[in-house]
Amino acid sequence: MTHALHALAARPGSASPLRYLDIDTRDPAEYLAALDALRWAKLQKQIRYVWRNEDYYRRRFIEAGVTSPNDIRSLADFRQLPAFIDKARHRDSQDESLRRYGHPLGLHLTTAPENAIHLAATSGTTGTPTFYVFSRKDLEITYKVLGRMFAVMGLRPGDTTFHAFGLSLWLAGITYTQALEAYGARPVAVGAEGGVPKILRYIELTRPRFLFATPSMVNQLIERAPNEIGKPIGALGIDGVFCSGEPGASQPAFRQRVREHFGARVFDATGGAWHNGTITCDSADAHGMHYMAEDHCFRYDLVDPETRQPLEIRDGAVGEGIHTALEYEASPAFRNATGDILRLHVGECPGCGHFGVRMEIIGRADDMLAIKGVKVYPAAIQKVVHGFMPRLSGELRIRLDAPPPRVEPPLKLIVEAGENTAESEWAELGKALAQRIRELLSFRPKVSVLPFGSLPRSGAKTKLIEIAPPA
Ligand SMILES: [Zn+2]
Repeated sequence: MTHALHALAARPGSASPLRYLDIDTRDPAEYLAALDALRWAKLQKQIRYVWRNEDYYRRRFIEAGVTSPNDIRSLADFRQLPAFIDKARHRDSQDESLRRYGHPLGLHLTTAPENAIHLAATSGTTGTPTFYVFSRKDLEITYKVLGRMFAVMGLRPGDTTFHAFGLSLWLAGITYTQALEAYGARPVAVGAEGGVPKILRYIELTRPRFLFATPSMVNQLIERAPNEIGKPIGALGIDGVFCSGEPGASQPAFRQRVREHFGARVFDATGGAWHNGTITCDSADAHGMHYMAEDHCFRYDLVDPETRQPLEIRDGAVGEGIHTALEYEASPAFRNATGDILRLHVGECPGCGHFGVRMEIIGRADDMLAIKGVKVYPAAIQKVVHGFMPRLSGELRIRLDAPPPRVEPPLKLIVEAGENTAESEWAELGKALAQRIRELLSFRPKVSVLPFGSLPRSGAKTKLIEIAPPA
């Protein structure tokens, strides 16, 4: 097996691609202050730039009581502004520009339509797709940011990469393959559309060093390789797996599975939209994602999801990320309410030792629960449940009597015993789980343990919350 060789593969050293910023301090407060200075320098220009957009952004400023860009005198002033755009407003802006101007690039288009030379879109599973619009400059910065992420994986110009992400319009599709070419790599772009058998045959034929795929695709490749190509996936020599598009690739169990079956390192990443980019290092436990574009976007301008007030940015802060691309040219994110609830880590990464800011996405603003003033996200509960695997199966449901966010305690949490857990252990396991949640999340749920296989499986997007009237 090639496993031992991969374990010896080069790790990021002193010239780590994670060190792309010229900030030379290991003091968290000084580091954040240097970032703020960098942001404010770029924001002063960007505020004036988007102000010129009378159709959309100037209206938002005026609604917020800002009558001139000069009214915003500091980063603190900027952080007091409300969110200017979110998914729903983004769609409305596209619909209105289609009606008014015959293009869907949005009323918030801040450049001439002919400068918009690249389009990507969200999958549109919940309605009309939202487009990400790129000018030449936007694309160049995107390639730079994604290139930093590729470098973190140890990708080198000349390497073959295999693209098993969906290609059609998705950011991680065409935009990524173009970024890989700009980097000097050689992407084999079969895409998820090609289907698992074809993907496996093309991997065997092209011998890529890196695989780009969602965690569920990675699992399918592991399971189906022996039947489709007559050998385990680990025999194909893949050195690193780049995951995105779904949660899961930061979980220790998944990372372990990839190491065992592929003999490869695994990276969990987000990014591509509006100059955002984050990636984990390849440590066994993910320790959050490193921000790879602090100089091009302000992704974690955190606000309290209830009061919408800005929160202090510091190690351990939790809130909704408001995203502003600092120098985006086409249809920029500018105070974009992402809906992502982030937990920040500021300091040294326990995985790779790099000093900087990392984030975990711990939930969505719209699935927040409030239990007697304690804010809880289903994903945070899931993480604690996953810590009890394999004694528990990892499946769970949160059963509410009324729609969230208010929950009358105790919160009812349904979990499943692991496949090989004796029924005599269930009661003790339920107590231990309730206690662990009490310690980590500051509330005590009422836990019911069901037999293995009781809860329906419906893939990565399973809703963790069920709402039922009291029995
Ligand atoms: Zn790290």
